[in-house]
Formats: sequence, structure tokens, C-alpha cells
Amino acid sequence: MSEPILPQPLPALDYLVIAAHPDDAELGVGGTILSLKAHGARVGILDLTDGEPTPHGSPEIRRRETDAASTVLGIDWRGNLGLPNRLLVADLDARKRLAGVIRQLRPRILLSHYWEDAHPDHVAASALVDAARFTAKLTKTDMPGEPHYPEKIVYFFSLHLRLQLRPSLVVDVSAYHDAKLRAVACYHSQFIQGRPATSPTFLDDLRDWSRHWGWAIGAAYGEPFVCREAVGLRDLRDLR
Ligand SMILES: [Zn+2]
Repeated sequence: MSEPILPQPLPALDYLVIAAHPDDAELGVGGTILSLKAHGARVGILDLTDGEPTPHGSPEIRRRETDAASTVLGIDWRGNLGLPNRLLVADLDARKRLAGVIRQLRPRILLSHYWEDAHPDHVAASALVDAARFTAKLTKTDMPGEPHYPEKIVYFFSLHLRLQLRPSLVVDVSAYHDAKLRAVACYHSQFIQGRPATSPTFLDDLRDWSRHWGWAIGAAYGEPFVCREAVGLRDLRDLR
């Protein structure tokens, strides 16, 4: 583990995206983040690791790319928990470190990785968020902040496994999809350098994926999510 990078002050958030690697949040939930921000919500991202080493990246390059993507998304806060890339495990130390940050940011909703994937870091991140959500509400501990229990965890897809999905809900991100692709493209070392330049490129695949989920709800572009718990709606006006 290295030292976490937690820009101060830690703001109170409505939504906190917790992702294994910088770029997972953009891939899985970039359009939804842009939509939430457009509607005035306070949204942050906590990356669990620095995502390095990778074939064309370095910690410095990755940090610059992450900063550029965060600017495109217009988020309120982004931190890094300093856990080890490729070696992410949902152990007690990591759980406590993550719970301490959740207690200070106090998000109403957590968004994190779907629990099934080929990348072990993604599987570990999902389990770690489940455990930290519960741990964050404990009293009589030496963790920073006050007890807090986020109302829901919504799981997104930033997948290496080509799963046949049955999402619980799909968010219409049609108005934000161009900006989402701009945020993803900030990670030049991950998605452009060393990747095929002829169609279908990585960004072509991502657009087609979003288009498929848009089609599924009668919209142009969508992002799918799964909830373990029942999804509540205030009423049916937002259903499409
Ligand atoms: Zn990842």
C-alpha cells in the first residue's frame, strides 16, 4: 500500500464512484456522472489503485490523463486510495481505509464494479466496497469521520469478461455520450496508444456498447447497472 491521495477538504457528496483503476469510472459510468453533474448533484470518484504498470503508461502519465478526464466530467472531488494495482485484495486493512473515506465523504449512493469479471482487481474492488459500506457505519472505532451507511450500491460494468448482462436498470446518457467518449479518450496510454487504429477501434466498441443499451430502452445511448437490492422510484414518470 502507498499513501492515499485525498485532496482536502473532503466535501460531502451525493454520489461516490469507487473504481479499481483510473479509467474504470469513465468507461462504466462516465455518461451517468455527466448527467448527475448537469442536474446539480455532488459527485466524486475514488480510484483504489494508480492502475500502473501498464504497457504504455506510467504513474505520471496516468495522473495527467486522470486529471484531464476529471475536468471533462466536471466532478467535485477525486482521490486515490493508494492500494496496490494487480494485487488488490478485499482485506481488513483495505476495508478500514476505504470505510474511513466513505465516513468523511458521506455519499448517499455508492457506484462500483459488478462482482463478476475476469480482472481480479475488479472482483476484489466489488467485494471491498460491499464490506466497507457496512464497516463505515460502525461506532466505537478509531476510523476518521462519523458512522455512515450509504443507502444503495449500484454496480456498473467496466468489463474484461464478455458477459451476457441482465441489468436492473439502464440510464439514458444520450445527451452526454460525446463528452463521455472525450473523457475516456483522455486515457491515451490505455485506449489509443498500441491499440488498433482501424475500425472497430476501442472507442468504436465502447460507442456500440452504449448504443446497444440505448436501443434497449428506446434511447440513443445508455449505461446499464445492476442492483442487488430492490430499485425504488418516487413514481413512474422517469420510466422509459
Ligand atoms: Zn480496471
